[in-house]
Amino acid sequence: MNLVNSLKKESDKMKRRGSKYLIKEINEKLILRTIYNNEKIDRASIAKQTGLSPAAVTKITAELINQGMILEAGSAKSSGGRKPILLSLNPDYGQFLGVKIGVGYIELAITDFTGKMFENQRCDTESSDPVSIVEVVKKCWNKCNSKSDGNLLGIGIAVSGVVDSKEGIVKDSFLLGWRDVRIAELLKKAFKCEVLVMNDVDSFAMSHLWLGKAGQYSNAVVITLGIGIGGALIIDGKIHTAKGGVGEIGHMTVVKDGTTCSCGSKGCLEAEASFGSLVKKVASTTKNIQLRELYKSVKQSESSEIEYLRKAKNIDPEAFESVFDEYAQLIGIALKNIINMLAPDYLLIGGEALEFKDHFLNESILFAVKNAFGRLGDNVIFEIDELGEESWALGSIYNLMDEKLFRVSQK
Ligand SMILES: [Zn+2]
Repeated sequence: MNLVNSLKKESDKMKRRGSKYLIKEINEKLILRTIYNNEKIDRASIAKQTGLSPAAVTKITAELINQGMILEAGSAKSSGGRKPILLSLNPDYGQFLGVKIGVGYIELAITDFTGKMFENQRCDTESSDPVSIVEVVKKCWNKCNSKSDGNLLGIGIAVSGVVDSKEGIVKDSFLLGWRDVRIAELLKKAFKCEVLVMNDVDSFAMSHLWLGKAGQYSNAVVITLGIGIGGALIIDGKIHTAKGGVGEIGHMTVVKDGTTCSCGSKGCLEAEASFGSLVKKVASTTKNIQLRELYKSVKQSESSEIEYLRKAKNIDPEAFESVFDEYAQLIGIALKNIINMLAPDYLLIGGEALEFKDHFLNESILFAVKNAFGRLGDNVIFEIDELGEESWALGSIYNLMDEKLFRVSQK
């Protein structure tokens, strides 16, 4: 409801300024958002919730029905008199595509116009070269599209690193080896539709804002543990993205003169506690010949590194445990630092490392709460991601819906 309130404020401001076009856009978006929030709602209730006049609601909803964006979806119970007709977003108006670009794979999510996912695909990528990634996205989409034949309204992209969303440029993604890559332009050419790029952890956090509980807290932090380590900050229901690079938790220094990181620095949390680093540590700790041999075939991809850790857990549990004891400490230090700096009400932990959560997570949280400044750690609500893998791609769709349907453009 925060967004509705801010749109209402904007609407009042614009009325004073007298910009007819903008008022129309704001009111349309206000109504769309209200319908989305309520799933189904009648015109009189829209007027009540938005503060618009019943006549204005009737006029705008008629236009939206004409465009096919909303439809009449049954009627509500009457409290005497005519039954009020309910309006909802039209799921068949079009589709949104969300793509998470990972290391060695891409993950696609496709939703209808209401943001409901109906298809999800994961495709492997041979190289991280942007042109070949776009080709894989196209191929993967074509595979999905054979099962659906809707109008593609836009593409949301979730990618690691620092992102300039306005220009559609990935400025620095060390995991992908990208610098100043104009990914939105490449995809626009291939798909002929709008493309909106965002940081992948922000996308993951966006899913938790829309589908999870993150929006219920005024100050929430999301941390993801996997092949990389990332973070996102949510303040008053909005993702904080100053300069496109807020929450690079993985690049806080945790070991002086430690392992060289992909970012060029030394001893970053990501360098010491990424999957790649855990795999290396297991291989140098174990005395088991089979495990040492297996290490030679590990590729720098999420699936390959996870597979090695799974095998290590079975083949040499002792080596695995000793590496994860150290991992628990490093993650504990990171969580403590996050609590001291941001004092979150809610701290959500996600990422592929959760598969091994029984081997580190409780220890990490206990360390953080015990060692946080004063009583800052006492009331933090810790939760783990339960939305699943597709939430990495889905968030970029919600970002797109927010931008396209509910947010007023700053022209
Ligand atoms: Zn780093």
